Amino acid sequence: MLDDAAFGGATPVTPKRLNVTDPAARWTAASRERAFYSYSTNYLIDLDHAVIVDVEATTSIRQAEVLAQRRMIERTQERLVLWPDKLVADTAHGSAPNLGWLVEDQGIEPHIPVFDKSARKDDTFERSGFTYVHEDDSSICPGGNRLRPSNRNFKTPRPLANADGFIRYRASQKDCQSCHLKQRCTPNMAARKIMRSIHEGARDMARDIATTDAYLVSRRQRKKVEMLFAHLKRILKLDRLRLRDPNGAKDEFHLAAAAQNLRKLAKMKPIPELAPA
Ligand code: SF4
Repeated sequence: MLDDAAFGGATPVTPKRLNVTDPAARWTAASRERAFYSYSTNYLIDLDHAVIVDVEATTSIRQAEVLAQRRMIERTQERLVLWPDKLVADTAHGSAPNLGWLVEDQGIEPHIPVFDKSARKDDTFERSGFTYVHEDDSSICPGGNRLRPSNRNFKTPRPLANADGFIRYRASQKDCQSCHLKQRCTPNMAARKIMRSIHEGARDMARDIATTDAYLVSRRQRKKVEMLFAHLKRILKLDRLRLRDPNGAKDEFHLAAAAQNLRKLAKMKPIPELAPA
């Protein structure tokens, strides 16, 4: 089961500890809390009504969360014929491939913070200071020069995008060497290089959505999700699983979600009016 990519247990990261009686349980800790062996429950929720639409048990790693999200969306489309217009989620879901999958493959608006590691700590120009030009697939730097996908001539042509799905756009050394902004742009390199994902269109869409009022509404709606998880722990006391292995976790998480939905349903039942005396 540890190697089962479908369960999300397959990861290149070696766990610090292995539980010999339940090897798919992950040794993990929330911030500033003690570590323990755990599984994660993932919910797909109809945010308008705070109803749990699907549940997926996974091992407690980020890659598994994204896999769970995809499986729940596909399963909901297939079983309930529900096609969400938007997905509200946290940064764990904001990687370029996942945003690409949501926008390009599923036509779903990502109300998700973009996972972006391009920030620079040395006060030099950020990637956002470069303007992408669709017409000729180039990027214009703050000095007004163009960076292109490849200025290098390899004997054997190489694919433009690396294995990580990012294309390197490079300025010409000639431009940078004579540029008065070089110290503020690339003080230690002969020429500036920036990276653009093959899913940058989807990332840009997520960045644009993040500036809208609709995004603020989505952030508020996310609190409903957090309340469901808090309820799971504090009221239903699901801070310890009674059953072992991924199937045990799956059964307990499904039962708990069903209980939460039933509680919701009970609250929705109209209170009968008292008959007049
Ligand atoms: S150093 Fe190079 S990339 Fe940076 S602004 Fe100058 S010309 Fe443009």
